[in-house]
Amino acid sequence: MRTGNLYIISGPSGAGKGTLVQELLGRVPDIWVSVSATTRSPRPGEVEGVHYFFKSAQEFDDLIAEDGLLEWALVHGNRYGTPVEAVRDKIAEGAQVMLEIDPQGAMQVLQRIPESRLIFIKPPSFEELRRRLEGRGSETQEQIELRLRTGETEMKFEGKYDIVVNNDDVYRATDEIVAFIDACANEKKEA
Ligand code: 5GP
Repeated sequence: MRTGNLYIISGPSGAGKGTLVQELLGRVPDIWVSVSATTRSPRPGEVEGVHYFFKSAQEFDDLIAEDGLLEWALVHGNRYGTPVEAVRDKIAEGAQVMLEIDPQGAMQVLQRIPESRLIFIKPPSFEELRRRLEGRGSETQEQIELRLRTGETEMKFEGKYDIVVNNDDVYRATDEIVAFIDACANEKKEA
């Protein structure tokens, strides 16, 4: 069994992080993907405890107050955070723990856990990002514009990540991330 490690995957909305994480679930046997808490309303088909833990503003405040979050951030007008306990337990159990969180949250985790590994997912182009966001049909035009603006800000963080993966092809990008995880799981990062 390998030792537990913490990985953070970030990138603009529409870059394909969710699809890549799904692919990783089939490729990395000891992976465990954290489920975040959010104040965002569920989209059709989203399941409590599977996609997110959906919280009221008050419940989210309580989580922060009881120190239940490893990090949290305001993203596209909603709060999102990583429940800390499960992450700690899974790393201790030897899992390759994956957080799909925004760069503000990633920087907070890096402060608290300097040996975290950071993976940035880049869309092939800004035009492709817009096309993907419009194509998935889950957001209004106003929400899409907000996500694109946030995406521009997020792209400025790519230099702070250990690897930048261009998601031009989901299978090639998955191979790149699997190779990174395998390399990391076999050597400890200098903090
Ligand atoms: P969505 O609303 O599309 O599910 O997610 C919006 C953004 O929130 C994504 O880009 C994702 O990276 C970010 N996000 C999801 N969960 C967390 C979290 O626990 N913490 C932080 N900081 N960001 C998150």
